[in-house]
Amino acid sequence: MLGEIYFAQGQFQKALEQWRTAEDQNPWYLPLIGRQMWEAFLALGQEQAGIEQLDKYCQQYPSIDLLMVLVNAVETTQGKSAAFDLLRAEVRKRPSLLGLDKLLEWQLAGALEDERIQDLALIRELIARHTQRLERYRCQSCGFQAKQFYWQCPGCAHWDSIVPRRSEELDFYPVAQDSKKAAA
Ligand SMILES: [Zn+2]
Repeated sequence: MLGEIYFAQGQFQKALEQWRTAEDQNPWYLPLIGRQMWEAFLALGQEQAGIEQLDKYCQQYPSIDLLMVLVNAVETTQGKSAAFDLLRAEVRKRPSLLGLDKLLEWQLAGALEDERIQDLALIRELIARHTQRLERYRCQSCGFQAKQFYWQCPGCAHWDSIVPRRSEELDFYPVAQDSKKAAA
């Protein structure tokens, strides 16, 4: 918090020194101060040092919030194309729906045309990885899940306890209680 006071007073160097101690104390709080750290580096004219610092944090303590501070910093100093490259590389390295969402958001906000196909392919690939979990069939009686449809559940041997709907659909639109719960 002392860092924020220094920052508000325009004492950016002191603010940065304070914030760096946060790394020793609890580095997982870094995402909360990442944006202000970058602004302090900017105010001091130390863009390169700021990017190196943020990059180091992102590698050691991965966080979507820190990453987006870094991506915006790279955009400011090196341009949109470099920022896209960074974001794409990070999403590839540490796939997450949050990262994908950011990539999509950037795409919609004005992707460079020649990169669009490449990013769409990556997005599709990573979404497919997540949806594998969501497209299984599930037994309403014992919870057994399978890629393949069974009339008789291999888990509990009930008949007709698996409905021909994917698990994501079941989560959003549960099967009516009367028909299946009775069987269980
Ligand atoms: Zn079952």
